[in-house]
Amino acid sequence: MPLIRKLPEKLPDEVVRKFRELVEKTEKTGLEHGVALCLTEKGELTVGEECVGTECELKRQPRCREGRYVGFFHTHPTGGNLAFSLGDVLTMLVESTSNSDSSLWCLGASGVRYFLCHILTKDVSEDEVREFYGEHLKEFEETGGATGIRRMNPSWYHRYFKPDLYDSEGRRLHVLTSPDNLSKAIRETTKAYFFHQIKRLSEKARSNETREVLRDLWERAERLIRERGGFSMECSINGARVVMHSLRTKDDFIRAYVECDDRALRMDLTDKCMDFGTIFGPKASESCMHEARRLVNSRFYRTFLINYREDLRRALEERLRERLKVVV
Ligand SMILES: [Zn+2]
Repeated sequence: MPLIRKLPEKLPDEVVRKFRELVEKTEKTGLEHGVALCLTEKGELTVGEECVGTECELKRQPRCREGRYVGFFHTHPTGGNLAFSLGDVLTMLVESTSNSDSSLWCLGASGVRYFLCHILTKDVSEDEVREFYGEHLKEFEETGGATGIRRMNPSWYHRYFKPDLYDSEGRRLHVLTSPDNLSKAIRETTKAYFFHQIKRLSEKARSNETREVLRDLWERAERLIRERGGFSMECSINGARVVMHSLRTKDDFIRAYVECDDRALRMDLTDKCMDFGTIFGPKASESCMHEARRLVNSRFYRTFLINYREDLRRALEERLRERLKVVV
């Protein structure tokens, strides 16, 4: 049986200070940061060695300086991604088969002042881990486990894990029995996730790579307009293909390109809400969807999309002018 079987009511100051510090580092580096969670002989939770980026994968689990290793904290660089991935769950299960002391995993995410912890409430056999892996083989093969916990059967999750959120002072929020705490935390987290996606799109509009892609796509489209009078554009949204038909002008092209990003963002938000749902139940996904709808219907977002479209249009025009320069 693991040394820690219940989620602590309060994370010790030293531990929560380290959590906050690693989230701040992640916001600067864009990398995962992790630290071992350890239990001293006096029965106090403390932190051990740290790791960064790929070091934090199974290859090098950080150790404890004092006490026994009981779990692991790590961060997600994507703002608001305060949900374990399928790979996180697998790693934890595998770890617990070789070290039965390991039962507490905590998570932080860029842009969020809450922490998510869950505790393994029962021993897990190697057969059960194999079964879990087998059930999710497709996801592991396709994404290496980076996919969200929404792909996990919620009843399976709750048979093995008990989750809760902690505030920035390390106080346990009992979100499964306090709907107000749950919806407040989920709304803030959803907002952080949304603004991370906004930032990503703004950066995308400014990148050279996007300009290349836009020019290549438009040159192909131009040819089709000459030959057939119009073109269709396909965009892949989370593996699903969406085709936009009857496009005839450069304006149509840019509008379709933006629509693709807009739809992908909405789908990303829905997926994140489903992750929260697997962990915290339907109330969590409802709070998340409610906030997501508010955000995508906001004046801010509408204005953002207009500006985004203008930025892309300008980027494309610039590239096309460069092309002319070369010809001349
Ligand atoms: Zn993770």
